[in-house]
Amino acid sequence: MPSVAVPEPPVQAPIANQVAEVFAAQRARALELRAAAYPERKARLAQLARLVSTHEAEILQAVYDDFRKPPAETAVTEVMPVRLTLRHAQARLRAWMRPRRVPTPLTYVGTRGWVRPEPKGVTLIISPWNYPFMLLFEPLVSALAAGNTAMLKPSELTPHLSALVARLIPQYFPAAEVAVFEGGPEVAQALLAQPFDHIFFTGSPAVGKIVMQAAAQHLSSVTLELGGKSPVVVDRSAPLAHTARKIVWGKFVNNGQSCVAPDYVLVPPDLLQPLVDELQKALNEYYNPDGQGFAASPSLARVINARHYQRLLHLLQQAQQQGARVVCGGQTQPEELYLAPTLLTHVRPDMAVLQEEIFGPILPLLTYQSREEALAIINDRPKPLSLYVFSRDQAATDYWVQHTSAGGTTVNDTLIHFAHEHLPFGGAGHSGLGRAHGQAGFEAFSNLRPVLRQRVGYTNFQALYPPYGPHTFRLLGWMKKWFA
Ligand code: NAD
Repeated sequence: MPSVAVPEPPVQAPIANQVAEVFAAQRARALELRAAAYPERKARLAQLARLVSTHEAEILQAVYDDFRKPPAETAVTEVMPVRLTLRHAQARLRAWMRPRRVPTPLTYVGTRGWVRPEPKGVTLIISPWNYPFMLLFEPLVSALAAGNTAMLKPSELTPHLSALVARLIPQYFPAAEVAVFEGGPEVAQALLAQPFDHIFFTGSPAVGKIVMQAAAQHLSSVTLELGGKSPVVVDRSAPLAHTARKIVWGKFVNNGQSCVAPDYVLVPPDLLQPLVDELQKALNEYYNPDGQGFAASPSLARVINARHYQRLLHLLQQAQQQGARVVCGGQTQPEELYLAPTLLTHVRPDMAVLQEEIFGPILPLLTYQSREEALAIINDRPKPLSLYVFSRDQAATDYWVQHTSAGGTTVNDTLIHFAHEHLPFGGAGHSGLGRAHGQAGFEAFSNLRPVLRQRVGYTNFQALYPPYGPHTFRLLGWMKKWFA
């Protein structure tokens, strides 16, 4: 029998080569896109919107497969915010792109100045696992609105969603415009070796530092959306039933794995028990309406993986050994990565559960005797991503806001400042650098280029040009008197 040549399986180029190839293609395309007018940018947003609306069911399924996140919760907390962001960007794009005239100071009479938002160029978006769809697509909307190309690195901890995105994006965009690289830190490192024009990273402060170091090699600009311990201050005037319902929703949505989730609660001592009672009531209402127990709730996601599950159990056990009391929850089903929504009292600020970001369904409640004591606990820690105040009293609310610092704040609710179309979102200090969402996101991905046009043949103050002489000082004296 004649021998048949068996084709060699295609050899996968090492990841660094693949990255370099796509980067070169995107760089060439970014130069073309620089001059792209409004209709072209709008068309790319419409293309992204088509992807989202066509594949919504697959997105919900993939996130469910990753950590049993209820499809309704993915629809509410991931797909809907991205749809709203897209609609907002499409409606505002023309205004955002428009060069913005600036006033002309007297010393510049005769000139015209404006700020022209232009695309940064080739951008990198690295996202975490906890809102795997939303935290990849929100910055992508901003990147495309601003006229950039984008290389995406979704989290390896949500493999179903990552694989889906890696399959869908090439159906809607050429790799020279948007490309997806699946994988873990090694793939992220290969990407970070390239001289991106902007890097948008969402994840932990520890990896944020690595990203910033890598960006420094190329002086790439960065947006860092990081995490931290977001406190809830329950003021003496707080309406407790309302407060508890909002805390429970904000804490246990996504099973406590939200960057802006309430991390710990500060409450006056005499309000602790009434608040705990209300929290339990709200927990039962949301996650145990038919008395089958929290574990049976179809509305509770699971912990992302065994490593995080062990970390959470360890935090809980350590706190209990040091005197903390579980007043609700605490039950576990390790094979399901299930930890019941858990309320902890008798905690102290030095316990690990009050030191590191919890990022799971454990809520410690601390009491404070005086405002100063509460402020010391908040301000002893790095600046949080969010801080929540519950109060009926405007003066008290102002006090808590003025004496603390945080990336953002919602008063009398939790989380919702995140998705407000007109509010910029971001961290402060340890919880992040830069602002995202809406116009702020567009500007993060844009170079706000000042342009000044002089009239030909005109010089504003000829006497300030060389050769210098006494006339120079005479003019300066006149300028000091009238302008400076
Ligand atoms: P992470 O920092 O472990 O991972 C984030 C991304 O970085 C992933 O894509 C991962 O593959 C990549 N990565 C991991 N190690 C890397 C390395 N050495 N070099 C380069 N890249 C690397 O974060 P996570 O566990 O996925 O997410 C949880 C954290 O993200 C929490 O701290 C949370 O508060 C924060 N977060 C912040 C926001 C925000 O908007 N500010 C939103 C969601 C999550």
